[in-house]
Amino acid sequence: MRIHNFSAGPAALPEAVLKQAQEEQLDWRGVGASVMEISHRDKKFIAVAEEAEADLRDLMAIPANYRVLFLQGGATTHFAQIPMNIAAPEQTADYLITGAWGQKAAKEAASLVKVNIAADAAIPSGHYRHVPAQSELKLSTGAAYLHITPNETIHGVEFTELPTTNAPIVADMSSNILSRPINVADYGLIYAGAQKNIGPSGIVVMIIRDDLLARQPRKLPAIFNYAKHAENGSMLNTPPTFAWYIAGLVFKWLKSQGGLSAMASINAAKANALYDYIDASGFYRNDVEKAVRSQMNVPFVLPNEAMDASFLKGAEALGLMGLKGHRDVGGMRASIYNAVSQNSVDTLIAYMREFAQKA
Ligand code: PMP
Repeated sequence: MRIHNFSAGPAALPEAVLKQAQEEQLDWRGVGASVMEISHRDKKFIAVAEEAEADLRDLMAIPANYRVLFLQGGATTHFAQIPMNIAAPEQTADYLITGAWGQKAAKEAASLVKVNIAADAAIPSGHYRHVPAQSELKLSTGAAYLHITPNETIHGVEFTELPTTNAPIVADMSSNILSRPINVADYGLIYAGAQKNIGPSGIVVMIIRDDLLARQPRKLPAIFNYAKHAENGSMLNTPPTFAWYIAGLVFKWLKSQGGLSAMASINAAKANALYDYIDASGFYRNDVEKAVRSQMNVPFVLPNEAMDASFLKGAEALGLMGLKGHRDVGGMRASIYNAVSQNSVDTLIAYMREFAQKA
């Protein structure tokens, strides 16, 4: 039996994708080997890579002046590699911090560029529960870029209205890419670790505008240089071919679901059902400001921490897995990415209701 998977990442993948990968494991496309056993230079694999990019371009309506890169190292590597590629050491980069990941991104960048914290939403409250208004942002003039985290995976804060700035916006979309349509042209650079809405861990998708790719503000080894990756079709060295293949299958699955507008309504229905129940329960609590509650990661707490262990134990007995909140914030967190069904969310709500009644 498959579990109801609420893991924050690596996370649930569409069952249809897993089944296809299983069927193709021993003999992929008639080659007599699995896709992960052939060279990344093989024209059959090149076709997989090109198809994945074409499908992603289609899904996100990526304009022609953006390159799509398939990179490695997790989003964390790019916390450092982005400033290397698009800012000179003496330049300033603005960071808007709305949760733990933005904080980490700013910290990594600090040794490579002058980091200006445009706003840190936890000052002075100590909590990440809102997104600072435009009037509260201390943007620097001539910033190399403004870094944002549109969905904070740990704190469950998501925003769709972008700040106004003259600098290109760099967005870490690790946990909400492909969950709804966005206008790519509003961004200079979008990047995302794959292990939530794209595929297995080990691959990072980056969408970067040509002028940012051309900046090259400092001399870098080729392997750290995005322009070199672009010139080499993201195959400067051996890419994680299996992860790339699965990402391609996920993109096809998303298209079969009706694309990102369809995903947006499915995701809104799941998130609304869960938040509506939490708010009405008088038992569970989510303290994030309503307008910026995440549709992907729903943190919630029980009336007291002492109940957490029995809540999790009861959940696991029903196959409701991955609900323990991040160690930094405690409580619970239900991650409800694209591949998590309404049925899983409804099953969780039913369990939460029953637990609250018995408590
Ligand atoms: N950014 C965000 C928003 C994330 O959720 C995560 C991982 N949970 C990361 C960055 C770090 O990703 P990785 O572990 O792949 O480096």
